[in-house]
Amino acid sequence: MDDLLITNARRIADGAPVSVALREGLIARVNGGPAEAARVIDAGGRWLGAAFVESHLHIFSGGVALNRLNLAHVHDEATLAAEVRTWAETRTDLPLICGYAANYDLVGEGRRPDRHILDAILPEQPLFIVSTDLHAGWANTAALRACGFMDAVPDLPGAEVVLGPDGLPNGELRENGAMDPVYALDQNGGRENLGIGGHEPGAVTEAARAADKAAILDALKTCAAHGITLAVNMDGNLYQARLFTELAQADLLPIRVSLPMTLAPGQDDARIAALLEAAGRPPVGKLSFGRVKMFMDGVFDTWTALRTDDYPDRPGFRGEPLFAPARFAEICIRADAAGLQIATHCVGDGAVRAVVDGYELAAKANGRLDARHRIEHLDMVHPDDVARIADLGIIASMQPVHPPGSAGLPLEPTISIMGRNRWRDTFPWARLKSAGVGLAFGTDWPVSPLSPMVAIHAALTRRAWAEDVPDQRLSLADVFSAYTAGGARADHREAQLGRLEPGLAADLILLDGDPRALMSSPDACSVALTLCARRAVHDTLSG
Ligand SMILES: [Zn+2]
Repeated sequence: MDDLLITNARRIADGAPVSVALREGLIARVNGGPAEAARVIDAGGRWLGAAFVESHLHIFSGGVALNRLNLAHVHDEATLAAEVRTWAETRTDLPLICGYAANYDLVGEGRRPDRHILDAILPEQPLFIVSTDLHAGWANTAALRACGFMDAVPDLPGAEVVLGPDGLPNGELRENGAMDPVYALDQNGGRENLGIGGHEPGAVTEAARAADKAAILDALKTCAAHGITLAVNMDGNLYQARLFTELAQADLLPIRVSLPMTLAPGQDDARIAALLEAAGRPPVGKLSFGRVKMFMDGVFDTWTALRTDDYPDRPGFRGEPLFAPARFAEICIRADAAGLQIATHCVGDGAVRAVVDGYELAAKANGRLDARHRIEHLDMVHPDDVARIADLGIIASMQPVHPPGSAGLPLEPTISIMGRNRWRDTFPWARLKSAGVGLAFGTDWPVSPLSPMVAIHAALTRRAWAEDVPDQRLSLADVFSAYTAGGARADHREAQLGRLEPGLAADLILLDGDPRALMSSPDACSVALTLCARRAVHDTLSG
């Protein structure tokens, strides 16, 4: 007898009627066969398909962001007060109330917040509000006192604790040097941001570890609610590896996690060796290793993307690679020889070229087949490199919510910094796909919203910035594929995940609403049920 039978569903791929029988965590049959099962779910015509693979996100910082208040829409003091008080009401036990994405006109046009305004809103509990560009924040007196700024104002290189007319801090803190002591008050102590730079926290108390695990589990439950059953976490460090391993051993991970370890240019050989050792560990329950992550460049908005031509407004300047070519090649050859997959952040086409060069040297040195090394983001590609990417079997791990003009992002300054004559080479999903490159989609959450529906809508409706710029839109089937089978293949799991076929894991979603309507709105569809290895990890049906 089967464990679970889902009947009366429509297949996401083509709308055809479908039923599935599940047994021991796997799909036993698709359509047909005897219909006897311990439990039967009548899907009521809902849409059934493989669960999503989120190929690039940041689980720990995403989980921490869930406990922060989004203030993007606030432009006056009364609204700010109401929002903060409502948020804080149910969070009196938190050591810090933190708002983010705040505009500089947060308390009204031409005014700047200060600690007195914030004290009137929240007098006792430490409060910190961070600007949308992350370069400034405003703290109330309780927060300033808790980090010692009311007793002594430190002299900080490249950062500033702004003083009021009374000679005391007025609440405004500029740049990370001044903001970090306030983040450290938070229950996660800023530890959520360490992995991305390849760093580890110092001594962590038991209570802090518990808070960090809680943030991670919050993030994974949120993934499950969005229909995601495999999340590729792009900022692994040894600390996170320990937390995730403990959660996996206790079978507390609701969904599958793939955890690449972050290698950074400043790390010495001992540190690299320790990270490669961790990356080579075997899977533990729903947790898997097997990969490393690096950065080759930054982003266009701060002129830190590495390009093959000059920045239009900076003749002679093309950006700097974060790894020297020889060092990058050496690490690639080592990781590749150890059977690890390499994922590298490349935004500019110069970074893409440098990374393809490194992967090519690793392939020559080791002769390893089907390594499926990855490029993360790939915002710009030089036409000469497309065939090389395809020939080397490199995976393009891309985020449909990232092109300027998509998902509410402004066009400027990014498209001017990229340069008019390079628009044709940006976010080239369709071009890479037609060249035979494997696509895997994700969101980079919490950089962008986690919802696959928002990303799918963005992928379907992306508009070219000018008439002579090629259309990079993909079909609905191709977009779903990049979010399911493509992501599974990118994680070397096509035999386990990503398709509705017998023998694959019972990682399935049921959608309310017609997926074809995602063309007109991201709200057209929502996830009614998420199964991960047959276990319901999100369920709106039985409630
Ligand atoms: Zn990222």
